[in-house]
Amino acid sequence: MKILVIEDEKKIASFVRKGLEAQGFVVETTSNGDDGFLLATTRPYEALVLDIMLPGKDGLSILRNLRERKISLPVILLTARSELNERLDGLNLGADDYLTKPFHIEELIARLHAVTRRATGTSQSILAVADLKMNLLTRKVTRGAQAIELTAREFSLLEHLMRSPGRVLTRVEICERVWDYNFDPGTNLVEVYVQRLRKKVDGDFPKKLIETIRGVGYCIKAGA
Ligand code: CA
Repeated sequence: MKILVIEDEKKIASFVRKGLEAQGFVVETTSNGDDGFLLATTRPYEALVLDIMLPGKDGLSILRNLRERKISLPVILLTARSELNERLDGLNLGADDYLTKPFHIEELIARLHAVTRRATGTSQSILAVADLKMNLLTRKVTRGAQAIELTAREFSLLEHLMRSPGRVLTRVEICERVWDYNFDPGTNLVEVYVQRLRKKVDGDFPKKLIETIRGVGYCIKAGA
């Protein structure tokens, strides 16, 4: 999925790029509104992540001009807490959603999936690995016929594992994606959560899905 990010705050732009690329999105960023508008009108993207205050064309003008040209590209606005009027204007101008800074990368990812699903009418709302199934819309998780109750963090951790079965997620990646820490907290936080998740997901099932790759991280596999 190809995403355009128009954001002039370097830190936010790189945080968004890193987070989205880690989830398999292809990301192009620009810090200038004029360049951004040109890209949005001439290249194919699945969604636009749009800041409001920008050098060159501002975010709301970009949005207005896109909609005037009948370009229905899904748009998620990034707004500051104080920009309430801009946020409302943005929604009136045809933004699909907005996020208030600071935000968790998972929130942006969830919204991108939601707006692009709405746009294409397709649904990839179910993740499955072996007999483990996760419904991203209802947030129900089942293993075989058995329902599994997860906390929000456990759900997020399992979702990240299930989105790329067979791929090893490092402790640091898990910290970044599930807790939004861009540092290793140096605690056994991740181990504790994986342990809890394992108890619920693998429990007494003979086929173990969650694997520990010693010294590296964790991954989910269809089982041996
Ligand atoms: Ca800005």
